[in-house]
Amino acid sequence: MSVLVYIESENGTFKKSALEVASYGRCVANSLNTSLCALVFNSKDNATLGAYGVNKVLNVESTHPFTAEAHSNALKQAVDKEQSTVVILSNSANSKYLAPLLASDLKAGYVPNVVEAPSSTSPFVVKRSVFSNKAFCNTEISTPIKIIGISNNAFGLVEQVVDITTEAFELENISSKIRVEGVDKATDKVSIADADIVVSAGRGLKGPENWGMIEELADVLGAATACSKPVSDLGWRPHSEHVGQTGKPVATNLYIAIGISGAIQHLAGVNSSKTKVVINTDPEAPFFKAADYGIVGDAFEVVPKLIEKLRAFKTQNA
Ligand SMILES: Cc1cc2nc3c(=O)[nH]c(=O)nc-3n(C[C@H](O)[C@H](O)[C@H](O)COP(=O)(O)OP(=O)(O)OC[C@H]3O[C@@H](n4cnc5c(N)ncnc54)[C@H](O)[C@@H]3O)c2cc1C
Repeated sequence: MSVLVYIESENGTFKKSALEVASYGRCVANSLNTSLCALVFNSKDNATLGAYGVNKVLNVESTHPFTAEAHSNALKQAVDKEQSTVVILSNSANSKYLAPLLASDLKAGYVPNVVEAPSSTSPFVVKRSVFSNKAFCNTEISTPIKIIGISNNAFGLVEQVVDITTEAFELENISSKIRVEGVDKATDKVSIADADIVVSAGRGLKGPENWGMIEELADVLGAATACSKPVSDLGWRPHSEHVGQTGKPVATNLYIAIGISGAIQHLAGVNSSKTKVVINTDPEAPFFKAADYGIVGDAFEVVPKLIEKLRAFKTQNA
């Protein structure tokens, strides 16, 4: 018996969400009194995983870009090899693509959007967010193998240093019906999915020519930039920045919303961010009800001042 985590990396570097998956896996392995294995593709830094409780890394060297079919097949082989009873993944788009395939192959129950460690392992019960983060649901997984997708930033990073071994994992035929010819990245900047801080702006910015200050604020904070749906529909910003119910979900530590009204479809995608700061001229804007901190004011006055103060703070504390 073991717990298996699927560790995602970018050019050999682990994503923060992957280390969160490892932390969660360690917690489940402790509860089940078993070991924690990780399936990793092309990793160069397995020692880091040992700091988050991984006992054993199955490292796959592969030149093929991700396909859900191939990676779910690899996970199935890892489950068979390690006799895993719990498989844990992130809530990334790739993990969400492959998890249902794996669940079908293993006849396993799959629960995504999990926000806490299991409240019980016998029966196996996890808490997940539902209805666009408006409610929680305690769900029992009764199949012999359980698959869990955890929400970003919900469990957090928990270090627990353990001895780690690495094994080259030779896969038996992981061919896929789909072949990826190439991958074009939308941007080299911090991606919304991996960012700790997101600076997001809406139609209140009046036009694309005013995004300089949003990028500057994001730059000072080391944040990713995002926008509301109409902003990307109008072509002011790329679609890759659109967040909300029909855009990307955001689960950051800090979400700064500037000139965004806070329509229900926008809030649905950003609700699970930990701290929300809203800057809006209209004190009745619905976003203020969901905000932890609010500034009623004109973005064109507030944002430059905020940048100035943050720069001064950084210089003083450098
Ligand atoms: C099926 C469906 C799905 C949708 N999915 C999404 C989605 O995924 N994401 C999404 O964002 N929307 C989505 N929408 C659209 C959503 O309903 C709203 O229309 C949209 O979020 C509004 O965008 P906004 O807040 O940028 O613009 P507006 O509603 O026009 O709000 C602009 C805000 O800026 C403020 N403002 C104006 N000037 C300033 C200033 N100088 N300084 C500061 N504040 C200022 C105003 O007070 C106002 O609150 C969806 C709609 C539908 C019907």
